[in-house]
Amino acid sequence: MLFCASVGFADDTVDERYTWDLSEIFPTPEAWDQAREQVLSDLGKIEARRGTLGDSAESLADTLQLISKTSRDAYRVYAYSSLAGDEDLRDTESQERNQLGDIMFARFSQATAWVDPELLGVGKEVINAYQKEEPRLAPFAFQLENTLRNAPHTLGEEAEQTLAYLSQTFGSPNNIYSLVANSDIPWPEITLSNGETDVIDSQGYGRWRGSENRTDRKLVFDTFWTKWSEYRNSVGSILNTHLQTQASLAQARNYDSVLHRELFNDNLPPEVYHTLVDEVNKALPTLHRYFRLRARMLGVEQMHYYDIYPPLVSLDKKFDIETSKEITLKAMQVLGDDWVELQREAINQRWMHVYPQRGKRSGAYMNPIAFDVHPYVLLNHNDDYESLSTFAHEWGHAMHSIYSKQEQPFETAFYSTFIAEIPSTSLELILQDYMTKNAKSVDEKLFYLGFGLESMRGTFFRQTMFAEFELALYEAAERGEALSGERMTEIYGDILKRYHGHDEGVVIIDDLYTNEWMFVPHFYYNMYVYQYATSQTAGTALYEKIRTEGKAGVDNYKNLLRAGGSDYPYQLLKNAGVDMATPGPYRAAVAKMNAIMDEMERLLEERDSGNSRPAD
Ligand SMILES: [Zn+2]
Repeated sequence: MLFCASVGFADDTVDERYTWDLSEIFPTPEAWDQAREQVLSDLGKIEARRGTLGDSAESLADTLQLISKTSRDAYRVYAYSSLAGDEDLRDTESQERNQLGDIMFARFSQATAWVDPELLGVGKEVINAYQKEEPRLAPFAFQLENTLRNAPHTLGEEAEQTLAYLSQTFGSPNNIYSLVANSDIPWPEITLSNGETDVIDSQGYGRWRGSENRTDRKLVFDTFWTKWSEYRNSVGSILNTHLQTQASLAQARNYDSVLHRELFNDNLPPEVYHTLVDEVNKALPTLHRYFRLRARMLGVEQMHYYDIYPPLVSLDKKFDIETSKEITLKAMQVLGDDWVELQREAINQRWMHVYPQRGKRSGAYMNPIAFDVHPYVLLNHNDDYESLSTFAHEWGHAMHSIYSKQEQPFETAFYSTFIAEIPSTSLELILQDYMTKNAKSVDEKLFYLGFGLESMRGTFFRQTMFAEFELALYEAAERGEALSGERMTEIYGDILKRYHGHDEGVVIIDDLYTNEWMFVPHFYYNMYVYQYATSQTAGTALYEKIRTEGKAGVDNYKNLLRAGGSDYPYQLLKNAGVDMATPGPYRAAVAKMNAIMDEMERLLEERDSGNSRPAD
């Protein structure tokens, strides 16, 4: 869930203070290369231990410790080359190192591929007995339990070998799709109302779909979706191949369905997925209320699908990186002095690559894998509010890693995707409330509130809509139904229209736009998108606890961060008082959205009646 800042360059001079210092990982590329060679030679030692896991408790502990140490070193090597590579994607030397890092990591996977099947072969009973005997196995307890859980879904050696041979082809639909979407379709050029011309590919679409000129944004939508619709048969066939492959693989491994497999991976109860979809459907009147408010603020009679992106209010305020730091620290005061001090120290080190530069990777991320060093953060800071919000978001990830390391050893420090986007969301919300409270004018206040609503639409509602569509596709594939591109458009169209209140006249969805599913690469990631919506829900619930319970809520939040990956994500959240299999957290998120709209409507009344007072 990364916000992608658009990239623009004044010149190529870079202020060193705003770049990261990778020499903390390795002083020189030569030192990096030596460490890489060492990892490769340690992989031989791991392979040599094949067949020894069941020999004794001591032998098992030796092997697990060796793997743990090697993976810690491998992460450090990989962190260096991938971070350096992202500074300039055109730099041949650093890209070569990046590839060597990739190869080393692939070798690591190959060298350890025998471990899980062998553990399953040794069996739960023997391993549990070893654990009682050997204290060095304690840090591996969760990892061992999690591996042993997979016994019913692991096949015999011959079948596993066959699947391994075919594993590359299983990923082909995604590769073919990305070639079609990113390089094969000849995107058309349009002329906008100001005379400017632009190619409407996915970047052009992203640039202009929120244009304040309604004729322009309709033209952009019509052009983009007409072009996509010409490829409906082939893209449908590619996606269908992916769905059928995944359905067969799930069946081959004794799962009831692809959904069962994906939830099993994180040990999540199926109620999490179904409760999310049910509750979001019940909340559609709230989404429709937002669309009506949007129509009013944009001044359009009838909302159409091409009216969902233009900003509600524009904000002419700059947030350079120093301002962003200062504001974020003030906002985080609700998390206590210790948090603020810890974060203040971290953000003033050279852990971040802040500004866009030629060749730099776009978007933003936090990378935690140089475990013995510290987290690194990549931004493309653009001095606007979105950049400030992204800054808070990425530092939510970084603080998660810092807190996790306080309590967890390497083995349980890294958390799953289901948990990862929760602290980042909470920090965005804390920032947004702080900005709203401290806004200097009604319009500025409306801007932050509108930003919050838009984030709920784009994450809570839209990602759940995608999740519902994805589930409908898998269910159809698992029933043995034929899925053509046309049929997918039909299924997507029904869901899209329901979510946007097409039949009630809330947002009119022209049939052409029901081809939108073709544009979403996540449908090749196997039930991934729902986690964006659950993360936002849990992040909101945890923030509500901070807001209403004070110190108890803050401690609860920090404890979740400190727990890292020491347990299954559902359990970790439940321990933090947020049960994602029940309606409560989802309803609280919807209530928050309604409260934002209550406040916006009040502010609009005030502004429109002309007696706007200074903000409180
Ligand atoms: Zn994130």
